[in-house]
Amino acid sequence: MKLYDSMIIGGGAAGLLTAIRAAERGLSVCVIEQMAKIGKKILATGNGRCNMTNLSIKEQDYRGDDPQFAYDVLKKFSVKETLDFFESIGIVWKEENGYVYPRSEQATSVVSALELKLQSLGVDIFCDQKVISLQKEGDVFVCETEKKERFSAYQCVIATGGKAQPKLGSDGKGYELAKQFGHSVTVVVPALTGLHTSHKGIKQWAGVRAKGGISCLVDGAVVMEEEGEIQFTNYGISGVPAFQISRYATKMLQKGRKVEVTINFYREKSFVEFLNLLEKLSNCCTYKNIRELLEGIFSKKLVPIFLQEANIKETLHCKEMTKEQRKRLCFIIQNFKIPIVGFNSFEQCQVCAGGVVTKEICRDTMESLKIKNLYFVGEVVDIDGTCGGYNLQWAWTSGYLAGNSVQKYTRSDRIKEQPNNVLLKTGKQHYETAKPKQFERKKKQTEKTIEKNRGKDKRKTARRKKK
Ligand SMILES: Cc1cc2nc3c(=O)[nH]c(=O)nc-3n(C[C@H](O)[C@H](O)[C@H](O)COP(=O)(O)OP(=O)(O)OC[C@H]3O[C@@H](n4cnc5c(N)ncnc54)[C@H](O)[C@@H]3O)c2cc1C
Repeated sequence: MKLYDSMIIGGGAAGLLTAIRAAERGLSVCVIEQMAKIGKKILATGNGRCNMTNLSIKEQDYRGDDPQFAYDVLKKFSVKETLDFFESIGIVWKEENGYVYPRSEQATSVVSALELKLQSLGVDIFCDQKVISLQKEGDVFVCETEKKERFSAYQCVIATGGKAQPKLGSDGKGYELAKQFGHSVTVVVPALTGLHTSHKGIKQWAGVRAKGGISCLVDGAVVMEEEGEIQFTNYGISGVPAFQISRYATKMLQKGRKVEVTINFYREKSFVEFLNLLEKLSNCCTYKNIRELLEGIFSKKLVPIFLQEANIKETLHCKEMTKEQRKRLCFIIQNFKIPIVGFNSFEQCQVCAGGVVTKEICRDTMESLKIKNLYFVGEVVDIDGTCGGYNLQWAWTSGYLAGNSVQKYTRSDRIKEQPNNVLLKTGKQHYETAKPKQFERKKKQTEKTIEKNRGKDKRKTARRKKK
C-alpha cells in the first residue's frame, strides 16, 4: 500500500482543486472516487454549461450557521484568482449578467481540463472506489473501500459533497466520517429545490412561467424576498426565485413552522399605479369583460385563478366592476398567497443546506480544529450558496485553500520502505522514534501555524459573539 502525503476522498469540484494545488506544491496525492469517473456533478451544472462562478460575490450570497466563514475563506482564493487558475489550465470563460461560464458552454471542457492537469501532475486517481471507513492509525489516515482496498496518507481531505442528487455520487457519507472523528454536523435539508403547495388552484398553472417578486413568510413574517421567473409545476413552484428562498422554507418546515409564499405578479407597479391602470383600461375597453381585460396584462392561464381568488365572476363586465372589486383584485394579484407544505427531495435538489459545523474548521486552511491533518472542503461543510455559480465557487475556493495548506511529509519514502509497513502497525510510536531533524522542523512550523490559526479563529469567534 503506497503511503501518500495527501489522500482526497471525493473527486468533485472541491476535491479536484485540492488535489491539483497540493500536487503543484510537490506533494504525492491520490483521489479516491466512488463513481466510474471524476467530476460527475460538474457535468450536470448550469444545465450542462457549468455556471462556474459569479463576478459579483457578497456575504449574502452564502448561508449556513456562520456565512461570514464562507466570505472569509473566499477572500483567500477570490473569483479573480479562480478565473486566472482556469485560464492557466486552458479554460476561456465568458460572462452573462455576472454569471460565468466556460466559453465553450460545455461543462465537459472544465472536467477535461481538470483531468488533464491532474494527469500532468501525476496525481493518482482511483475511480469506482467507495470509501466505507476511515481511521487514523498513529499519524496516518487509512481508508478502506467497498472493494476491500486500502489507501493511506498523512493528510486526509474529506471532499465527499453533501446529499444532493445521490445519483451523481454525493450520498452523505462525508457527514458520517466527520461524526466519527468527533465533528458536529447540523441538520441537512435540501436547498435550491422546488416547493410544494396545498393550493389546488395554482396546480392548474403547471407549465406557466411568470416574472414576479416572491416572498417567503415564516409564521406570517417575511424572511426573504427574491424576484425573477417563477415556474409553476404540478406540485407547486420552481425556477430560480423559488430555489433561492427554498433553503429557508425547507429548514422551517422541518421545524414544524408555518411557511407561506406570496407572489407579486405585477412588481413593476405600486398598488396605486396598478389600480389606476386597471381603472383606465376598464374605462377605455368598456366592451370587454374582466377576464378579457386581464388577459391583456397576464398569461391567459393565470387569469381564472386570480378572479376565483378575488371572488369575481369572469363574465363580469368591466364597466360594472366596483372600485372595491378592483382594489381586491389588484391586492390579490400583487400579494398572491400560497401555503408551502413540502419540498423536493435530495434526489431533485441542487445543493443541500447544513453540514460539518464551521466553528470546528480553521478558516485559513480548512483543517479540522479537532483532528490534525484532517480537512473538509466543499458542500460537506455547513455552507451553501444561492443560485448563480456561488456553490461551485465555494467548492473551488475551499478546495484550493486546503490544497495550499496540506504539508509535504518529508519522511514518507523512508517510512514506506519499512518492512510490512511498520508505521501502519505501530502508529505514532514508530513515527515519533524515527523522525529526522528536517522533518521535526517542518512539523513544528506546521503545528505553530495551526496553533496560530486556531487562536485567530477563537479570537474572531469571540469578537463576533461579543457583537
Ligand atoms: C443539477 C445541478 C446543477 C447545479 N448547477 C450549479 C451551477 O450551475 N453553479 C454552481 O455554482 N453550482 C451548481 N450546482 C451545485 C454544485 O454542483 C455543487 O455545490 C458542487 O459541485 C459541490 O462540489 P463538491 O466537490 O463539494 O461535491 P460533489 O461535486 O458532490 O463531489 C463529491 C464527490 O465525492 C464522491 N464521493 C462521495 N462519497 C464518497 C465515498 N464514500 N467514497 C468515494 N467518493 C465519494 C462523489 O461521488 C462525488 O464525485 C449544481 C448542482 C446540481 C445537482
